[in-house]
Amino acid sequence: MDKVKCPRCSREMRWISRLKTYFCDNDGYILSPHEAELNGLVETERPATLRATGAVGGLIGAAVLGVLAGLSAFVLDQEVFYVTIATKLGLSSPLLTGWALHFLVGLIAGGVFIAITALLKRFALDTTRKSFWVGLLGGIIIWIVVYVPVADMLAPTDLSNLMFAGGSFIFHLVYGVVTALVSLWLIRRSVRTQLTT
Ligand SMILES: [Zn+2]
Repeated sequence: MDKVKCPRCSREMRWISRLKTYFCDNDGYILSPHEAELNGLVETERPATLRATGAVGGLIGAAVLGVLAGLSAFVLDQEVFYVTIATKLGLSSPLLTGWALHFLVGLIAGGVFIAITALLKRFALDTTRKSFWVGLLGGIIIWIVVYVPVADMLAPTDLSNLMFAGGSFIFHLVYGVVTALVSLWLIRRSVRTQLTT
């Protein structure tokens, strides 16, 4: 959501949708969106806010991905991928550090992913349908950029196994879609609160 600074006192102005105008609660200054745009007073959503939104989305995406990975490891009677990676990295208590690492990567990847969608207009998260496709694309990219190199280096047998590689690919698609849709929901929620307060 765009923010507009009052030209008189430079405080943030309130959007009154009924009058289609910005209003300064401090000094009563009134500004139309057109004037605000012309005078360069519009401040588009800060990337930091979006990164935080993406981080929350990524955390929830990582939780869903973790459940899928944990369940399939359980069904196949295999060690969970994250635990294997932590063991290979020589980390202490791999069960704990492996999962912590998984959530950390999910959080960072979500933040970066959503920040990129904000920079590229074509990939902006505006509709649910578009967010779904952008999420799918993001999931593919994260699988290629994060999972493949890590698996290639530390658990190459997982990568050469068609079922494991295919499964992890699908799980990352789910991660991307969940991250994008949760972020869209959070963005819409923050827009609604700004319009009604
Ligand atoms: Zn003012």
